[in-house]
Amino acid sequence: MLRRLTIALLLTAATLTAQTPPPSRPDLVVVISIDQFPYYYITRFQPYFGADGFNRVLQHGANFTHSLYPYSTTYTGPGHAAIGTGYVPARSGIVANNWYDRSTDTVEYCVLDTRAKGGFSPLNLASDSLGDRLQEHFDQSKVYGISLKDRAAILMAGRKANAAYWFDPKLPGFVSSAYYRSDNTLTGSFNATVPAFASTHTAWEPSPWIPTADLERITHDPASLRKFKTDQKGLGVTFPHPIKDAEAVTYTPYGNQLVLQFAEKLIDAEHLGTDDGNPDLVFISLSSPDYLGHAYGPDSLEAADTVVRTDRDLENFFHDLDAKFGNRWTLAITADHGVQSIPEVAKDMGREGGRVDFRNPKKTAKALTFADLTPQRKALEKKIAMKLGVRVSDATPVEKGFIIYFDEPAFYLNWTRIRELKLDGERVKRAARDAAIEVDGVSAAFTNSELSAPHPEASGLEAAVRLSFRADRSGDVLLTLKPGYIWNYSEPPNGTTHGQPVEADQHVPLMLWGSGIRAGSFDDAVAPTFLAKTLGHLLGVDAGGAETRVLPCVAP
Ligand SMILES: [Zn+2]
Repeated sequence: MLRRLTIALLLTAATLTAQTPPPSRPDLVVVISIDQFPYYYITRFQPYFGADGFNRVLQHGANFTHSLYPYSTTYTGPGHAAIGTGYVPARSGIVANNWYDRSTDTVEYCVLDTRAKGGFSPLNLASDSLGDRLQEHFDQSKVYGISLKDRAAILMAGRKANAAYWFDPKLPGFVSSAYYRSDNTLTGSFNATVPAFASTHTAWEPSPWIPTADLERITHDPASLRKFKTDQKGLGVTFPHPIKDAEAVTYTPYGNQLVLQFAEKLIDAEHLGTDDGNPDLVFISLSSPDYLGHAYGPDSLEAADTVVRTDRDLENFFHDLDAKFGNRWTLAITADHGVQSIPEVAKDMGREGGRVDFRNPKKTAKALTFADLTPQRKALEKKIAMKLGVRVSDATPVEKGFIIYFDEPAFYLNWTRIRELKLDGERVKRAARDAAIEVDGVSAAFTNSELSAPHPEASGLEAAVRLSFRADRSGDVLLTLKPGYIWNYSEPPNGTTHGQPVEADQHVPLMLWGSGIRAGSFDDAVAPTFLAKTLGHLLGVDAGGAETRVLPCVAP
């Protein structure tokens, strides 16, 4: 009797399962990239997260604890291209946010497209994206990118996207370019609400989510070091931060709400996620954590408050999607890069840190000389000249120097001068490389000739730099900095940045939840570049670089 009952129960369970199979292919995939969000934010602030933001994924989804970008140029452009396409910068072509174009003597911005009205497109993106593959396979699938930043929205969405939208602070509101099939009615109606949003967010004060007693322990923000924070957009460097206009809003965590509210409107307006067999894909980048993270640093009270506020904003967004799509949607969360501590704060905590200042001199009416260079750039020029037996002094015109331009992470050499002096170009590159390695804080330097020669066994820093190298864009001598060191861009020095092949910049969250995702904590060595192939597998299309693989949370 008992046995028969057991069988009956089993049959009932099997029948129920057959009647309501969990859909393995979602109708909507939402990829959220939090700009400047190191993995240690998750572990540091998890005790203060709400029930259903990051904790939804940590407790009921797949969390990859060892997801690191394998390449050296950990900036916004390369990161978002890697998320959307599954290719490293050497293959996506987005080797940095900017590079110097020798043929035109101008700085090229990674998503600049002078042919597109609105100025921006994925013209420079060399790799196919997950969205491209999805739209090739499903003729009704739609793909969108949304961000405060043009490069984040554009590079994740890919070349065939229906539209990418980003925020123009001058408007203020979301815009697109003529490259896309954008919806002016949508942007028009949303942008009409932006002034009201700004006028109800006139100050940023700490949220109640982290008890004051804990703040001291999990931040490092002494008053004596606040002079190393950046006072930007009139926000000041301490709580409460006055917010004077819509642009200033985007430099606070409230900027996340603008982006997520716009995403909700777009999902409704474009009827995304309908049960029509054509899955849709939305990429969302939250840029405000990056804007304010550069100014206040990851150890600040502001960063702490931003992380827990972002968690609550995501929770609200998830609930909105649950209400619309039930179990028919899948979520991925990652970041385009992490961040390093403000060097002066790092040193105060007993860590090594510093700034390397190779800034280009500001162009003025009078002719510039070596005396106008930063001390480190001047010392470098003199050291290169010495190695080559060329005489220079403080009075030497900058245009007679060996470096024509520095755009992190590379020097572009002054080939006019090298020809004038009848020097061997390879010898000059090696001299610049060797002079740079001697600078305090520089961990490695490579000439583009070294990187152009195949070296399959390359490891460590060289392997990372090779994954970010493309001969026509990357410069003549490429540099990396030691952990704790950053490029300096301001006088007096303030703020912090990212962009190095160091753990703080490379190690980011990689989390998936929802339809088709097996829950668990995975310590496999993986990378955010694996996301395109993984989501492709879930959606039934092949995407991502050959060196990437499907993450084990969806693999059969
Ligand atoms: Zn940044």
